[in-house]
Amino acid sequence: MTTVTRFAPSPTGRLHVGNVRTALHNWLLARKAGGKFLLRIDDTDAERSREEYVEAIREDLAWLGLTPDGEERQSERLPLYDEAFEKLRGEGRVYPAYETQQELELKRKIQLGRGLPPIYDRAALKLTDAERAAKEVGGIAPHWRFKLDHDEAITWDDGVRGLQKFDPAQLSDPVIRRADGSWLYMLPSAVDDIAMGVTDVLRGEDHVSNTATQIQMFTALHAAPPRFAHEALLVGSEGKLSKRLGSLGCDTFRERGIEPEALVALLARLGTSQPVEPIAARETLVNTFDLSTFGRAPARFDDAELDRINAAIVHQLDFADVADRLPEGMDAAAWHAIRPNLETVAGASDWWQVVTGPVAPPAFDDETRAYLAAAADALAWSDTPWADLTASLKASTGRKGKALFLPLRQALTGRDHGPDMAELLPLIGEDEARRRLRTAGTA
Ligand code: GLU
Repeated sequence: MTTVTRFAPSPTGRLHVGNVRTALHNWLLARKAGGKFLLRIDDTDAERSREEYVEAIREDLAWLGLTPDGEERQSERLPLYDEAFEKLRGEGRVYPAYETQQELELKRKIQLGRGLPPIYDRAALKLTDAERAAKEVGGIAPHWRFKLDHDEAITWDDGVRGLQKFDPAQLSDPVIRRADGSWLYMLPSAVDDIAMGVTDVLRGEDHVSNTATQIQMFTALHAAPPRFAHEALLVGSEGKLSKRLGSLGCDTFRERGIEPEALVALLARLGTSQPVEPIAARETLVNTFDLSTFGRAPARFDDAELDRINAAIVHQLDFADVADRLPEGMDAAAWHAIRPNLETVAGASDWWQVVTGPVAPPAFDDETRAYLAAAADALAWSDTPWADLTASLKASTGRKGKALFLPLRQALTGRDHGPDMAELLPLIGEDEARRRLRTAGTA
């Protein structure tokens, strides 16, 4: 059977780093198995879902190179959920309940006060037909719960957590539909996973107890449950579930100059026993993806680590990958000279400005000015102008090391550090280089 995974975001905000990680792992799982990766827009909550976020999700996935092999939207599939609902209701697996939020809250408090777990007491199941009718006449519309089967333990072999076992009697019958007819996420998700042929559900460990109840929904709908895997949550570098992480949208990374390949390389391996490396080749990440290397401890997301990976990825990018983001006129030779000095691709324009000028060297003392004037005279053009120039100045002035190199760099670039001068000088060109040396030498 072909592996089918899905990423199922609710379009209530931009994708944040935790979403990106889930999407990426589902994509990797599918790619490694030669299967399919589907996008499902979980937009049953009409109040909070926004079209702009649906578009942003598609854009972010495209930017990340996680193109889905198909897309579904829950708002277009409502008849399927009705059908499943009616079927389950006919079989007594769905029942109406009339408690208000306050009543449920009170029940929970009483249970907790008695040291009992706050499990729904199924009072609605004990209502007589007359009592139910009275509620409805009184204008109370029911919400709907899925009736868990208490006969057998719920078990599954989790792809990350190993064997999982739940006693259904220790779980509340989940509410699946609100009084206004709208859906909570549980049943539509199970219905879709069946209809879309999803074989593997990989999501965060905050969904573990949902999985226990959803496994019973699959069975009640006469379908084999998919394989489940729940990954440990992502936390900030301070080790806590941080608000900041949840608010860090894909767009903020893009604006900061983070390459999609850097985010992907980091998130592919964060929280696994495999080393996080600046791997730009997607194939390598696909081939080495392995759920059995995922740890149970929360994965720590560190911005500084992302910046390091990003710089290392930028240093590997080919001219063709970045050409459309470089300043006008900057060619492959310039990119290769400048690339090792960059933290972001956008930083290239700074160095290109150094090549094209003008530059602002520091004030030099008399002796250094004389040296730079001599350099202007000594400059001769060849395939290796920098090596030639420094060799000839070394011989004629006896300077070496910093005294030999630094004034030249400062006069030619206006800076103390930067790309290899052997690569930079040919980009500056003979006339301009001589002019810069001469100006610095006479100033
Ligand atoms: N829309 C759900 C969520 O974002 C999907 C969870 C799932 O992957 O099943 O939490």
